[in-house]
Amino acid sequence: MIEDKNQEHIPLSSLGEFGLIDHLTKQFTNKNSSTLNGIGDDAALLDFKNKAVVLTTDLLVEGVHFDLSYMPLKHLGYKAVIVNLSDVFAMNANAEQITVSIGVSNRFPVEALEELYEGIHTAAKLYKIDVIGGDTTSSKTGLVISITAIGRVAKGEAVYRNTAKENDLLVVSGDLGAAYLGLQVLEREKKVFEVNPQSQPDLGNYTYLIERQLKPEARKDIPTLLKDLGVKPTSMIDVSDGLSSEILHICKQSKVGCTIYEDKIPLDPQVITTSEEFNMDSTTIALNGGEDYELLFTISQDDYPKIKANPNMTVIGHVLKPTEGTHLITRDNTKIPLIARGWSATQENE
Ligand code: ADP
Ligand code: MG
Repeated sequence: MIEDKNQEHIPLSSLGEFGLIDHLTKQFTNKNSSTLNGIGDDAALLDFKNKAVVLTTDLLVEGVHFDLSYMPLKHLGYKAVIVNLSDVFAMNANAEQITVSIGVSNRFPVEALEELYEGIHTAAKLYKIDVIGGDTTSSKTGLVISITAIGRVAKGEAVYRNTAKENDLLVVSGDLGAAYLGLQVLEREKKVFEVNPQSQPDLGNYTYLIERQLKPEARKDIPTLLKDLGVKPTSMIDVSDGLSSEILHICKQSKVGCTIYEDKIPLDPQVITTSEEFNMDSTTIALNGGEDYELLFTISQDDYPKIKANPNMTVIGHVLKPTEGTHLITRDNTKIPLIARGWSATQENE
């Protein structure tokens, strides 16, 4: 689909590096007062007044982090922005700028990069982010995208991973496991398509799962909601590698233990039916699936009345002394240790 076989496509080489940068970035206009100068000079210029600055970066490599046979470029651009914004929100900060760096081979026509940038533009617009720069280079292999996000937070308001306290409640936003199952459905369809290109997939039962995989959202609303409710989380992290792995990060870095309850883990009905269909355990998927981009945080027990009626958040357990360890209590009341099987770039066969 993206191979440059169609002669009507504009080859990258026809624009040249500067022409391409101009072409891709002309649609961006700055909206945030912290952006004094964006694309076009040697560097961007930002002014955060007396606020603290949050900065985070991610690198996405074709064949490792995404597969263009089922990931449309528009979605890839969108998702590449979202994964970075999620990290900014997990610091209790507001995201305001991103830079976008790409490595592309001649295999991509200009139209393919236009699509990628359409996704980036859509996310930037929706989340009110200024695209303030980046870099463009050629790649001999696949597509590489690196996005850096910049945010701001009032001094003293940032929330870290290492500050959970004994007796706090562990809370997660949204529901878990859907993005992983979405990927399983897409990979199954890819295999079917390889055998029979005429097959028409019926994905009607998996719409939520596929949307969570191809077009995730970052929980910008949660830090705002918590502020409105008068709750400051005692620690926070975003769920990118799987709930288990993120809980263990908070516990290890905060030097605490915890217990979570299987029957409290929020699951969408499509996660339940599809895991049955795939003969997989929905709890295992929620614990280890990853790419949910929800927020996991701890709050003081005193704040429980403020959040308990909120459908966006679920209390899944509580924080204990470090000597208690980190456990899951299953539906049949068995206590099993939590283990991190989150995605790891250094792990083989993942
Ligand atoms: P330099 O030679 O100083 O690195 P470039 O010619 O690479 O400058 O970039 C020119 C301007 O375009 C800079 O503001 C840079 O940040 C921006 N830019 C370059 N590549 C991209 C990209 N892929 N996406 C967004 N902005 C970019
Ligand atoms: Mg450059």
